[in-house]
Amino acid sequence: MAVNFKGGCHPDAKKNATYKKPIDEMKSAAELVFPMLMHKGSPCGPIVEVGQRVLVGQKIAESTAEDSAPIHSSVSGTVKAIEPRINIDGEKILSVVIENDFADEETEPAADYDRFRTLSAKELASLVREAGIVGLGGSARPLSQKILAAEGRVDTLIINGAECEPYVTADNRMMVEYSEELYDGAMLIAKALEIRDITLAIESDKSHAIAEMHRVFAKKTGIKLCVVHTKYPQGAERQVIKSVTRREVPPDGTPYDIGVITVNVSTAVAVSRAVREGKPLTTRIITVSGSAVANPKNLIVKLGTPIGDLIEACGGFLEHPERVIAGGPMMGKTQYSLDAPVVKGTNAVLAFCRGEDKTEPEGVCIHCGKCVGVCPMQLMPVYIYRAYKADKLSECVKLNVSDCTECGCCAYICPARISLVSAFRAVKKKIEDVKKEEKVDEA
Ligand code: SF4
Ligand code: SF4
Repeated sequence: MAVNFKGGCHPDAKKNATYKKPIDEMKSAAELVFPMLMHKGSPCGPIVEVGQRVLVGQKIAESTAEDSAPIHSSVSGTVKAIEPRINIDGEKILSVVIENDFADEETEPAADYDRFRTLSAKELASLVREAGIVGLGGSARPLSQKILAAEGRVDTLIINGAECEPYVTADNRMMVEYSEELYDGAMLIAKALEIRDITLAIESDKSHAIAEMHRVFAKKTGIKLCVVHTKYPQGAERQVIKSVTRREVPPDGTPYDIGVITVNVSTAVAVSRAVREGKPLTTRIITVSGSAVANPKNLIVKLGTPIGDLIEACGGFLEHPERVIAGGPMMGKTQYSLDAPVVKGTNAVLAFCRGEDKTEPEGVCIHCGKCVGVCPMQLMPVYIYRAYKADKLSECVKLNVSDCTECGCCAYICPARISLVSAFRAVKKKIEDVKKEEKVDEA
């Protein structure tokens, strides 16, 4: 039985527009843009040249850094440019631009191993790294790093299907429509890490996914189903671990310290495809929704597609949107250009009409303490904010701002509509910069 984690909130789920809609395959864009950072970690460098022909699945960028994942072309075509282009963080970064020839010519899948042999943790890590797989639930951290960090340290695998951000239904549809691949991917990871305790966590409001998983697990053994409370941020790593296992990740620790690894449902499907079919990560499921979108959908999208093309595939805008977001409304990023391409961690593109998105002007803190009550990390957002305003960085450190997961619960509940998350993001960046400077001085 799932336990409830402390804090959290209940934003209106708003998933009805796409919850039951089967995944649609989107038409390819004419031009695909691959920023050299499509994950969280170190950037890649291009390994193709302007004018070169590339195929679907061909590696076009890579890095030797451990916290990186190579990038593969999602179409066949010609490299048109290698130049800075806008990305979903609103920055111009070096990108490989490919002109699609619509031939969909694929590379031969790598076939230097027996796909039905049990892989060791190191073999699986190497394979998922070559396939460019990262956490598809939004974390976008390279999966190879996770597997290597977990090797020999974990006894529990949680497959995370607790898609808790409002509007987003991509993982829900993945569970309903790709349940067999999901099961296979989970078992591959568990076998490689020699884990017997495997649990799929699904929020209680996802009845279709729960029914589908009951159907699959009635035929296949090895994975338990755990229906967790519908509450935001249930899908966050620490919260889903607490709900499923009752174990708590220590403040400065990692899930491996308490014997747990979590993998998102879509990531598990990507693992199955990489192992069984030799396919690298070139597509992902994205929910396109919000009041300004004419016909909200769940789409299979080729990585590198401009977000404007996703909106077009959903009938365009009903009216000029007040705000477009890549990701969910709680943790997503506001977009200033529809030319920004989807990357590996993009699980949603949302567009809102005036009035739907709560962007009232910021007020003054009334010391109500509501932000403290909802913080799932048991932080004191009001005090961190006060220290931030007074420019007291060391005070922010003492108040453990680095533990803030930027979940947005405090900002959501704040009656004064204070941009708490932006403030905490800025503080965390400052702390990181100071640490980097200190390292340089020591060297
Ligand atoms: S954004 Fe940070 S401070 Fe605010 S509730 Fe989430 S974890 Fe707590
Ligand atoms: S919820 Fe907002 S107004 Fe209330 S204490 Fe926190 S920051 Fe202040």
